[in-house]
Amino acid sequence: MNEKLIVVLGGGESGVGSAILAQKVGFNVFLSDNGSLKDKYRDTLKSHNINFEENGHTEERILMADEVVKSPGIPDTSIIIQKLQEKGIPVISEIEFASRFTTAKLICVTGSNGKTTTVSLIYHILKSAGLNVGLGGNVGNSFARQVADENFDYYVLELSSFQLEGLNNFRADIAVLLNITPDHLDRYNHNMQEYINAKMRIIRNQRLNDAFIYWEDDPVVTREIEKLKPEVTRFPFGENKKEKTAGYTEEGKLFINTKGKLFNMELELLALEGMHNVYNSLASGIVAKLMDISDDQLRLSLSDFQGVPHRLEKVATVRGVQYINDSKATNVNSCWYALQSMRSKTVLILGGTDKGNDYSEIEDLVRSKARALIFLGKDNSKLHSFFDGKVDEIRDACSMKEAVDLAYELARKGDTVLLSPCCASFDLFKNYEDRGDQFKEYVRSL
Ligand code: ADP
Repeated sequence: MNEKLIVVLGGGESGVGSAILAQKVGFNVFLSDNGSLKDKYRDTLKSHNINFEENGHTEERILMADEVVKSPGIPDTSIIIQKLQEKGIPVISEIEFASRFTTAKLICVTGSNGKTTTVSLIYHILKSAGLNVGLGGNVGNSFARQVADENFDYYVLELSSFQLEGLNNFRADIAVLLNITPDHLDRYNHNMQEYINAKMRIIRNQRLNDAFIYWEDDPVVTREIEKLKPEVTRFPFGENKKEKTAGYTEEGKLFINTKGKLFNMELELLALEGMHNVYNSLASGIVAKLMDISDDQLRLSLSDFQGVPHRLEKVATVRGVQYINDSKATNVNSCWYALQSMRSKTVLILGGTDKGNDYSEIEDLVRSKARALIFLGKDNSKLHSFFDGKVDEIRDACSMKEAVDLAYELARKGDTVLLSPCCASFDLFKNYEDRGDQFKEYVRSL
């Protein structure tokens, strides 16, 4: 037994995965959560004989740690983290920790929007091509748990800004940065640059032989690259071809230009709709070609991908009105893309827990596309003060059933009803999945 003590803070998916891995590689482990654990995680810890506590932190024990693995939900400003920092005890993230114990190639994706869609698409492409690949990070089973239990050659990892914060020596073989728009600013003292810095950590430690794929039409991303001048090899993508663009569109086709070879495919054949998904497909296509996936295989996977629930998910058509669940649109920018991809007049359901939103970003699209707005939240006052007078029909709903009934009443034949809330869901729902599931349930019972 190694004498080193690893303390894991937080007993969710990433914490429990870290504890299992730490134990497996021979460390002493103690997990501490200041809230209560979910039954399944408590059971897992017990069945692995891992020491843990919940509903509070025992400081003396935590401060004995040689190293602490912190779950992404715990901010640096929390008292326990500050105390650890004062004592000089290193605090790292689950991703950093797990990466020490695998030699697999790491394909890492971040961005304000599109992460889950893109990692799912990349995973689909690589898995369909027969590679021994795992999907983790912010989705599914934690990276640490998979490093402990599986033996993958490749990982596709979704990394949130919170997960990126705790990376020091971690190095992505392929990094994908989709976009940077304001999100989670509540956690970053409303300081956009802090949030940007966290996102840019995705390229930390990358070397010339590694790849950095990014959206070159994003002014924030390009400005940061100018500043940081990373040595990594760059593969930008964008709508139109520029000097060095590796993925672009032209005359209804998608092009990927890597390794001196050109791949092309009709945009119409892409499984995912909307311009934002063209970007996600371009980024995924570059990854695929860098990994030598054949043209035929890539074409097939980009066209037969099933999509991810709660992201522009088509639910049903009822009396000529199509209902779309985009519950995952928890910020204004993702709602912008959803609205932009609407081909008909739209009854938009939005609202929830506001994270410092600026609705002017969607004002033009709302004015041109919205037949009506339905505000679904406990407190709709901010939405009213912005939108009142700008759209003819505005209604309030305080439950999903009420929102769906109102949408049914207001939509005309040929319209779309879109749930794309711009906000988090915690005021009325457990989480965005619960919100989307309730939407689907009430739509299906119309
Ligand atoms: P994330 O995991 O980053 O939250 P998702 O793939 O879950 O992203 O998509 C979240 C929302 O963002 C979806 O509702 C979708 O409409 C929108 N979206 C997806 N991809 C992009 C993109 N590349 N740019 C902007 N918005 C996007």
